[in-house]
Amino acid sequence: RAKEGGRNGISFYRPSMQEAADKRLTMEKEMRKALQDGQFVLYYQPQVDMQNKRVASAEALIRWLHPEKGMISPLDFIPLAEDTQLIQPIGAWVLREACRQIKAWDRLGHRIDHVAVNVSSRQFRQSSFVQQVRLALLDAGIGAERLVIELTEGCVIEDIDDTIAKMHALQVMGVRISIDDFGIGYSSLSYLKSLPLSQLKIDQSFVRHIDDPNAAVIVETIIMMAKSLGLNVIAEGVETQAQIDFLSAKRCLFFQGFYFGKPVASHEFVFRL
Ligand code: C2E
Ligand code: MG
Ligand code: MG
Ligand code: MG
Repeated sequence: RAKEGGRNGISFYRPSMQEAADKRLTMEKEMRKALQDGQFVLYYQPQVDMQNKRVASAEALIRWLHPEKGMISPLDFIPLAEDTQLIQPIGAWVLREACRQIKAWDRLGHRIDHVAVNVSSRQFRQSSFVQQVRLALLDAGIGAERLVIELTEGCVIEDIDDTIAKMHALQVMGVRISIDDFGIGYSSLSYLKSLPLSQLKIDQSFVRHIDDPNAAVIVETIIMMAKSLGLNVIAEGVETQAQIDFLSAKRCLFFQGFYFGKPVASHEFVFRL
């Protein structure tokens, strides 16, 4: 690649690449500082149980409150955190913070059933991951049934033996697992049978295009398959009544999306409980 654009093997300086590298390095340094200075915060988005029409749970979604740049989306820093191993301390913080928040709401008399936490592949693959979860629960003083771990399909199949071992350890502890962004990753679903899962989370792209017959068929198939495996299903990215009607008719009973509420800070979320 270094030879690209060069003659006789001599490469040209490419400012755009250098700038991008500098930017990443700056951001990496800033992320380290953010962790030390407490610039990360968790927002909470309601998950609604349609059977009794209430907010049963929440997904915790990280935000970076940068002192100069303002609020930064996880889409803009999680990938770099994954590349630089910083996802490990950040992910550990997310787990501790979510557990602490559950307990804080309990103390205020606003009991939430559970909180779902996103876990990156890099974080899940750490040999200390299960212990990390155990300690977060223990330190906060909450039961394992209050925590759901969201993993992507990619993470699950990347090292299936390690995944199974960790999932079993988490299951024994009482922590539940949900597969996030389900449906976009892998066509072979046979591996699902052998995993101790509790939930599939239908990816928002299918929900968004539910009036497209192809998307509708996929959604229907996911729901049927989940039911046959005894898993519950939650639809993500629900924005319209039409989506709710379609999904409800197919017996999807849990919803998350802007229709029910955007992710908000914990002091705002408490009023939904
Ligand atoms: P995700 O886990 O699939 O989270 C759902 C994303 O969809 C969130 O974006 C949420 O705000 C957004 N969303 C929810 N409902 C709707 C809707 O009705 N319409 C639309 N247009 N969007 C909706 P967010 O908060 O920007 O997070 C993006 C991604 O960043 C997450 O996708 C997750 O992969 C990652 N992420 C967030 N927090 C964490 C974290 O604490 N740890 C790790 N490892 N990743 C995280
Ligand atoms: Mg998620
Ligand atoms: Mg998702
Ligand atoms: Mg996603």
